[in-house]
Amino acid sequence: MIQSTMMSYELTLTHFLDRAERYFRNTEIVSRMPDKTLHRYTYQIFVKRAKQLAGALAKAGLKPGDRVATLMWNHYAHLEAYFGIPAQGGVMHTLNLRLPPKEIAYIANHAQDRFLIIDDVLLPLLKTFEADAKFERVFVVPLTGQPVDTSSGYENYENFLESGYGSYTPVHIHENDPAAMCYTSGTTGRPKGVVYSHRALVLHSLVEVMQDALNLSNRDTVCPVVPMFHVNSWGIPFAATMVGAKQVYPGPHLDPESLLDLYSAEGVTVTAGVPTIWLGIAQALEKQPNTWNVSGLRMAVGGAAMPEGVMRRLESQGCVVLHAWGMTETSPLGSAAFIKRTLADRSEDDVYTWKAKQGIAVPFVDVRITREDGEAPWDGQTMGELEVRGPWIAGAYYDMPDAVTSFTEDGWFRTGDIATIDEEGYIEIKDRSKDLIKSGGEWISSVALENALMGHEAVAEAAVVAIPDPKWQERPLAAVVLKPGASATVEELAAILSDHFPKWYVPEHIVFVDEIPKTSTGKFMKAQLRERFRDIAGSDQPAAMP
Ligand code: AMP
Repeated sequence: MIQSTMMSYELTLTHFLDRAERYFRNTEIVSRMPDKTLHRYTYQIFVKRAKQLAGALAKAGLKPGDRVATLMWNHYAHLEAYFGIPAQGGVMHTLNLRLPPKEIAYIANHAQDRFLIIDDVLLPLLKTFEADAKFERVFVVPLTGQPVDTSSGYENYENFLESGYGSYTPVHIHENDPAAMCYTSGTTGRPKGVVYSHRALVLHSLVEVMQDALNLSNRDTVCPVVPMFHVNSWGIPFAATMVGAKQVYPGPHLDPESLLDLYSAEGVTVTAGVPTIWLGIAQALEKQPNTWNVSGLRMAVGGAAMPEGVMRRLESQGCVVLHAWGMTETSPLGSAAFIKRTLADRSEDDVYTWKAKQGIAVPFVDVRITREDGEAPWDGQTMGELEVRGPWIAGAYYDMPDAVTSFTEDGWFRTGDIATIDEEGYIEIKDRSKDLIKSGGEWISSVALENALMGHEAVAEAAVVAIPDPKWQERPLAAVVLKPGASATVEELAAILSDHFPKWYVPEHIVFVDEIPKTSTGKFMKAQLRERFRDIAGSDQPAAMP
């Protein structure tokens, strides 16, 4: 057996920082501030400041593996934390500002965060939980330009950065050292922490930029709408820095008009976010035609299923939609729905069917679906739990020994997603296992019903949940939000479903609601809907509620 003659070279994020400094110094990073003005600087300044942050953290006594929390919107200072903290051997821990304060405190305590970097506009949020979460030092980013109130012991982030001036000395980092961490959104049970290594984030970036994934290059202008506290904004800040793309961050302004204005003003070519964001964008484009030109804009969508109808609406406006699947535990990219060359000449309807699926696994991610009796066939019909493994898939949770049931004995991560995989290898997520509707011994996919309902021109959003049923154990109930000014009857919607699905799939109860409650990361909060409508089957409630 001969030995390889290749060098051993550590895969670390500091390489991205050095590369950006060397090759991309004049490329811009643009951030929208709370007052809607644009903050802009170049990679040269960004790298200098990220290294200064690393130096300042070293002076502050940060030890390898220490956690530094962030509570920030998407902008330049958050990007500095993305690189500055790991460059010093620290672990950047993004806190989700949309969670209830008690939960943020629980997560910060569980992770043992030492320091916190926070936007000045988010200080009122910190006040609601700081008694329960002890940070040694709090650095406040003065986004508004107002003086930072230091009376409560907070420090100005800019002063802290200055303290690191000239003091950054590269530390030796191994590729398997931790770089960042994130907690699952915790719709069930306690939130669970996932710790990403440098190696995982580097490999994830390399695959994410592939043409068959997010298709990111140096020539792109990238605007991640997905929050930087949601699985590292899907890894885009790392990947975009690796290739030296122009980066555009929307700050706290996530309404459709603000985003569309920003895309136009900065020439954004790639953007990424959850379906709710794109639904809003589709509506804005239709309501105000000829206001924005989105021709060629590539939109990555994930976090929840993208309804085919919304995808078609956006593509009819010139956007190119890429549907991808992932989780906090998968860094997150697991699969992407690009159309394989061997399928490119199929009918438009077939192509859309594949585009609306969650796609095929990206390189280095292995997938399988399992049922109680073993591995399920890839026939596009048989549902099973999706299991994955790969170099950026969590093999354990942070400090949570009783979470071992999420991992199989033969080394796969159990996603909790129920899926089919077709003969071409395309995964289709049918449900979270807890959301699947088990009716008379058969499984009904709530996602399939939702997508069909959202295909109706009057429907803005629809969520389908299981409600208890004395005869069938569970039956589906559809909660539907109509578009402003639009109308549709229960009978009309039921008829559409009858056209697409077997009779027993069609919900007896279709109710009209003002809005679908959503989680902090934009997913339907189905538990709340189940609770609200659980007794509807046995009550005299009319099928359609006003
Ligand atoms: P999170 O860890 O908060 O990113 O949530 C991960 C979960 O979001 C997955 O387990 C899926 O249930 C869901 N999810 C993510 N991407 C998609 C997608 N493209 N289609 C359907 N569900 C998705």
